[in-house]
Amino acid sequence: ARKRDGKNGLRVFDASMLDTARERHEIEQYIETGLREDWFEAWLQPIVGLGDGQIVGFEALMRLDHPEKGLMPPGKIIGIAEETGTIGRIGDRVLDKAIRHLAAISKLDGTQNTYLAVNFSPLQFELTLPHKLAALLLKHHISPQRIVIEITEAVLMLDNPEVHAVLKQLNEFGCRIALDDFGTGYSSLSYLNRFPVDIVKVDQSFTRSLSSGTADVRRKSRMLIKGIRTISHQMGCTVVAEGIETKEQWQLLRKLGVDNGQGYLFSRPMPIDGMLALLENESEAKAANPA
Ligand code: C2E
Ligand code: MG
Ligand code: MG
Ligand code: MG
Repeated sequence: ARKRDGKNGLRVFDASMLDTARERHEIEQYIETGLREDWFEAWLQPIVGLGDGQIVGFEALMRLDHPEKGLMPPGKIIGIAEETGTIGRIGDRVLDKAIRHLAAISKLDGTQNTYLAVNFSPLQFELTLPHKLAALLLKHHISPQRIVIEITEAVLMLDNPEVHAVLKQLNEFGCRIALDDFGTGYSSLSYLNRFPVDIVKVDQSFTRSLSSGTADVRRKSRMLIKGIRTISHQMGCTVVAEGIETKEQWQLLRKLGVDNGQGYLFSRPMPIDGMLALLENESEAKAANPA
């Protein structure tokens, strides 16, 4: 429920606001307890090549796994964590787990081929980040080339020299930078020019409108995606489509020249145990049934 302006523009404090305040306080407590009790997890969602459907990487998605309340998605947590300043500690925890998971996957499949994409909030770009990340990668024998830093325009819009310096350092270190939720913000195109972006992630709203709405809407969506793809490729970026839920969307995106994709069609995000089991099944199936 949203706050509504009452008579004379005064804010009426109603029950829904009390609920909101209470829920907020509850979440703040979950965050603190979660950090103490190790409830934060990095779930993984595969990113596949749209040509052959093979996994090229994984996106780490934060989950708070409350022992009684169950899973809490990042949408409820991140905004509050940013305001209260706990996002840094949460981010460190998720990064640590995600890199461990990538190491476990490499151990299972015996390759160093897949990459790991991690989401970062603007507030996580502290000067210590490159050093912290380097130490983690060294510890788990992972090369920086396998790490993708996912940021949104919000990070770049800050126009903060410290953030830019950190991004530049991460890029020079070998990590790639992905611009997430592309196409939903304000002046996206100029960022491709001013920052070392390697990957453009087309927002899932574009994928959705490929196969819903009128024929005209669908046609325009195809044009938009094609345009983003062309510009991105010309800038030397790889293009990833988010939110692929149907075979039709997959085929359309492939025809539009989008390189990679992720979505429920291929796999939902899942905890590392589930992901390792899925990968093991896949490799067994391949061994029994070589293409
Ligand atoms: P995002 O980075 O754009 O991540 C994609 C979101 O789409 C994820 O939601 C994912 O579960 C969801 N998704 C994936 N495939 C499909 C699909 O086929 N259909 C639909 N409808 N949704 C799909 P999630 O996990 O709830 O994360 C939401 C947002 O929270 C992320 O958006 C990202 O901005 C943020 N986030 C997630 N983890 C972290 C983190 O560790 N740190 C920070 N700072 N932000 C994070
Ligand atoms: Mg992301
Ligand atoms: Mg996204
Ligand atoms: Mg998003």
